[in-house]
Amino acid sequence: MEKGKIIHSVAGTYIVLLDNGTRINCRPRGRLRLMEESPLTGDNVYITRNQDEGIIEEILPRKNSIIRPPIANIDQVAAVIAPKPAPNFALFDRILITGEQLQIDVIIVINKYDLEKEDEIIKYYQETPYKIIKTSAKTGFGLPSLSKELKDKETVHSGQSGVGKSSIINALLPNINLVTQEISEKRGFGRHTTKTVSLLELPKGGLLADTPGFNRLDLSEIRSEDLQWLYPEMDPFIGLCKFRNCLHSKEPDCAVKKAVDSGKINENRYESYINILEEIIEHEKRLYQW
Ligand code: GDP
Ligand code: ZN
Repeated sequence: MEKGKIIHSVAGTYIVLLDNGTRINCRPRGRLRLMEESPLTGDNVYITRNQDEGIIEEILPRKNSIIRPPIANIDQVAAVIAPKPAPNFALFDRILITGEQLQIDVIIVINKYDLEKEDEIIKYYQETPYKIIKTSAKTGFGLPSLSKELKDKETVHSGQSGVGKSSIINALLPNINLVTQEISEKRGFGRHTTKTVSLLELPKGGLLADTPGFNRLDLSEIRSEDLQWLYPEMDPFIGLCKFRNCLHSKEPDCAVKKAVDSGKINENRYESYINILEEIIEHEKRLYQW
């Protein structure tokens, strides 16, 4: 059997990229079709060959998977932000939180660097441990550094509309035109069918999903006492508060709030934490009928 990875799936057929670099059209073995989990883009699989076609014999255990877009084994999220349109930090923080929840690497890509208005964004995130890559899809600035970060990893990109996500992909892969692809997809399928997703093979190595993800954070899955762990710059201060179960909100003698006061945690990021914490607490109250 040969090992490979599903890089595209449509209507029960799959394109598998073998470890030796060749691609082969595959169908799943009948018994796999009977099982509840059908193959997903990103799945690592074992295949056998039947002339020009391959047969997926086995799906290897997934390290993670998401529903929108349907994709498995994500290593990293590239969260894209830009000075224009005006950054929606609340939304962006939710992308980062989703990355933390999935325990994948998070990189922040500040695009439209040619506009020279990125200071506010850098300030907001400079106390976080995330790698920040500055790019311009327009001038090509920073694209080699981004390529380096994407090498050997399976990455999903994310970010609000208009920040330049498709432009970056088009710049990394001059032979594909994402906009065209989106249009034909919209024509071909109804609005409610599951969108397909492809993993694009980057010239410098690595796989990048052609469809953005992580635009919906389900707060009902996060407990109020766990949220603090999803803001990694808080890590060094957790456990140093007066109260063991401190949520760093209104409690006295709070090490996190002191860190905010002394500039070790950005106050806007702290505010974002408090906003999401309050939302979670509201949800918990409804759930347990306090
Ligand atoms: P998406 O919605 O995130 O996929 O964003 P698009 O790639 O469609 O880009 C939105 C707009 O921003 C388009 O008009 C692009 O030409 C423009 N744009 C993308 N990247 C850059 C950049 O690096 N610099 C500048 N100045 N404009 C950019
Ligand atoms: Zn505290």
